[in-house]
Amino acid sequence: MFTYDEAFTNAIFEYCRDRLEHDAPLDFGMHSPVPLPALEGLISADGRDPEEILTFFRDHLAQHVVSIDSPRFLAFIPNAPTKNSLLFDMVVACSGLNGTSWLESAGVVVAENQALEFLARRAGMPEGSGGAFVSGGSSGNLSALTVGRDVGRTRRPDVAPHELRFAISADAHSSIGKALHVLGIEPLLVEPDDHRFTRANLELALAADPHPETVIGIVATSGTTNAGIVDDLEGLGAYAREHDLWFHVDGAYGGAALFSSERELLRGIRHADSFIVDPHKWLFGPLDCCALIYREPARARHFLAQQAGYLDVLHGGDDDHYDWNPSDFAIHLSRRARGLPFWFSLVTYGVAAYESATQSAIDLARRAAERIAATDGLELVRPASLSVVLFRRVGWSEAQYLAWSEELLRSQVAFVTPTKWEGEMVARLAFLHPDTTDELVGQILSSMFD
Ligand SMILES: *Cc1c(COP(=O)(O)O)cnc(C)c1O
Repeated sequence: MFTYDEAFTNAIFEYCRDRLEHDAPLDFGMHSPVPLPALEGLISADGRDPEEILTFFRDHLAQHVVSIDSPRFLAFIPNAPTKNSLLFDMVVACSGLNGTSWLESAGVVVAENQALEFLARRAGMPEGSGGAFVSGGSSGNLSALTVGRDVGRTRRPDVAPHELRFAISADAHSSIGKALHVLGIEPLLVEPDDHRFTRANLELALAADPHPETVIGIVATSGTTNAGIVDDLEGLGAYAREHDLWFHVDGAYGGAALFSSERELLRGIRHADSFIVDPHKWLFGPLDCCALIYREPARARHFLAQQAGYLDVLHGGDDDHYDWNPSDFAIHLSRRARGLPFWFSLVTYGVAAYESATQSAIDLARRAAERIAATDGLELVRPASLSVVLFRRVGWSEAQYLAWSEELLRSQVAFVTPTKWEGEMVARLAFLHPDTTDELVGQILSSMFD
């Protein structure tokens, strides 16, 4: 198992080279025209020939995956990793890195921290902000809200811990509700204005609430996943500052708009006590990667540092950075150095390339919206926000949207899934890949009239 096999290594590199060289085929996911193959008997006492199994994977399993990095993938939030980020991910895979601690991985941690610091400064967070790369927005939200809860407990010692709450919008991402569930914390669920959570909404909700003193923090979204709407970050952030509340900004998807013409909308992130953005979404890195950034990392470390006799050697020391253990800033310990592919990509392509790639999705969304508005039988549900467009085919039933979505995938034109908006099923396009074309948008729209 530990012997180098030249031929098979070449076969793997060939496979990867082929993926890198060509646009990812869309493929079919669960809608594949051929059934999933039987895997029975594959795991055996004596093992199988690796080339045979690689071929089996390529020919029989891979087409049951909708490739999220295809420029034709416009559902949910796509992923468009740069070539250099993918290549460097292979370096990470082969390097035996455990990105847990300064002791083991200082050379990795400094590079990841450079990327985190760059993002923090873009977001207007102060010098000294920092954190760690975690597996995704869900995990970043959970870690950030854990720290926010613990800080809130110390600020409100007179409130029973189980009565503490975070104010969240009804449009917050589902992972926020899940994080609160894990933490045993209730939300103060605030009804936003036209899906945008504002300071005025919060003040109204607090005024109507019998126990406003139990609210210890505010969660704002910098780009809702369903519609790309950016909350009133400035107003909510200022409110949090004035009232000593934890301010968390979930920018898993839309935080990347810091690289675009929309960055003014995101100015309020500068108030954040914690902020997340997923490089595996709109910052063109491979899955799975979330940048988790605290305004005062020492607070996070205070509540989340891993404590164990065998880990004591990781803590303490004179060097300023000695203590910078990514494991101290989130709920993980062992950790893939998942920030490195993003760091490598940012360093090698440069910031201007990031700005133009991010902007291209916004521009494409605007052009798509104009086209929809100009098409008889189609109607915008709302203006394009960031890179998301919601629209309806006038008169369509849910069954028609679902059949249309399935047919687009079956014919390998695109992966587009409908969503729910105010109880109504509507069509949704989420742009991200710079290689997605206007021609494809035209083809998708005209397919609604076939
Ligand atoms: C995608 C998303 C999440 C969850 O992130 P994962 O990386 O999928 O765990 C959280 N919040 C928002 C706003 C998102 O778009």
